[in-house]
Amino acid sequence: QLITLDGIDGVGKSTQIDRLTEFLKASGHDVLNVRDPGSTKIGLKLRELLLDSDLELHRRTEAMLFMASRCEMIETIIRPALAAGRTVVSDRFLLANVVYQSVGGDGSSGRQEVDAETLWKLGRLSTGGLDPDITLLLDMPAKSALARLDRATDRMEERGESYMESVRQAFLKQRHHAGGRSFVINADAEPDAVFAQMASAIG
Ligand code: ATP
Ligand code: C5P
Repeated sequence: QLITLDGIDGVGKSTQIDRLTEFLKASGHDVLNVRDPGSTKIGLKLRELLLDSDLELHRRTEAMLFMASRCEMIETIIRPALAAGRTVVSDRFLLANVVYQSVGGDGSSGRQEVDAETLWKLGRLSTGGLDPDITLLLDMPAKSALARLDRATDRMEERGESYMESVRQAFLKQRHHAGGRSFVINADAEPDAVFAQMASAIG
């Protein structure tokens, strides 16, 4: 099965992915961790380009590069792993691509967002129809997530609270189109309490 985790920056995705991976391994799953974008040779190169804010790509260009990275990851890594009976845990997936490339107001000038419906359509091409079985949306108010990032000395979030709150709302709205089952996890809690909700969601 394919389990994906998503949410705004600072919700504790990395922390919870580590816990989930340990939990699944302990219950006998052969787990493969992937990251979207990333995980393949070209995916890592695309990730580097996509996270380079100096490039200021048009959002449609950006959207398609994210899509290309996912396509390569699915066809070369995820499908073979699923076919071999492995459990794949992905740090972000198509949902994030739809959300981030459709929400405006990130402060960059001249970057026109793409509408969500178009992104879902394009997304089906990138996934070849492979939907996550389970999407875990780590959710918390942007204000608390930002405060958390500010406390972590190495992670200062440059974009504002209102932008992040719009991204949060888009995640809550768009998750219904992600395919499979999706769960909203209250991430504004102690790590153990957050993980307990995830464990009960995946059953
Ligand atoms: P990613 O690195 O995938 O973007 P993220 O920003 O969502 O992930 P983490 O890197 O796991 O999340 O966490 C961000 C910061 O918040 C870290 O400093 C981490 O230690 C802290 N943190 C994670 N979970 C919690 C929690 N439940 N309560 C308080 N702080 C947390
Ligand atoms: O996956 P990770 O949290 O490391 O994402 C790195 C950055 O890329 C985040 O700041 C996120 O906001 C951004 N991102 C994006 N569009 C995506 C996926 C991530 O702008 N489709």
